[in-house]
Amino acid sequence: MQIIGLTGGIASGKSTVAKMLEEKGAYLLDADRLAREVVEPDQPAWQEIVNWLGQSILLPDQSIDRSKLAELVFSNQQMLERLNSIVHPRVGTRLVALSKIIREKDPDAVLIYDIPLLIEAEMQSLVDLVLLVYVPREIQIARLQQRDNLSRAAVEIRLQNQMDIEDKKKYADAVIDNSAHLTETYHQADQFWDKLKPGGFYAHGEVDQR
Ligand code: ATP
Repeated sequence: MQIIGLTGGIASGKSTVAKMLEEKGAYLLDADRLAREVVEPDQPAWQEIVNWLGQSILLPDQSIDRSKLAELVFSNQQMLERLNSIVHPRVGTRLVALSKIIREKDPDAVLIYDIPLLIEAEMQSLVDLVLLVYVPREIQIARLQQRDNLSRAAVEIRLQNQMDIEDKKKYADAVIDNSAHLTETYHQADQFWDKLKPGGFYAHGEVDQR
């Protein structure tokens, strides 16, 4: 099995590229989705968050009010770190457990971890290679504003908590540039997929030797 760490900036197009690679036959584990699952009502992480922030962080159905939580932590580094320390280890455990199931089912699987903060969290050792979905900052801001209907200021706050996407390039084994039309992105995803095949540039075991 080969594990690809798919990362990028917020709204750079990770899900878009993940979907393309899934169509090619890759398996996908989405860290954001797992992060939502581990804080579902009565899970240990949910309990820790309620003990920490009180019942006022809950919606009437007892689920965590994610927009309220985001408002609190995105403007307070200490709170963000505390939240991460509650959520990240549980996501890591789920990733490892689910990967084991996939490996048993399909030992030749290409498995994608979609982890927005892979580089910031120094989780590269979990993956065989890092694939960065890149867009220049201005495109990133425009797409994020449009998709989530956010003000420029709200977008800037979210970006403050991420490494600049230009700096992330240094940590990437491969880059897909998602700044142009989706057909261009698809073409690059196709080329990347071909390089994973036996004999290809990123075929298992060859990354460390290049
Ligand atoms: P997040 O960081 O929030 O998980 P993401 O990196 O997964 O986001 P996407 O949701 O895939 O990013 O894309 C962000 C937005 O940009 C979406 O609204 C998507 O439809 C749009 N988008 C992605 N790629 C392109 C493209 N090449 N051209 C135009 N719009 C695009």
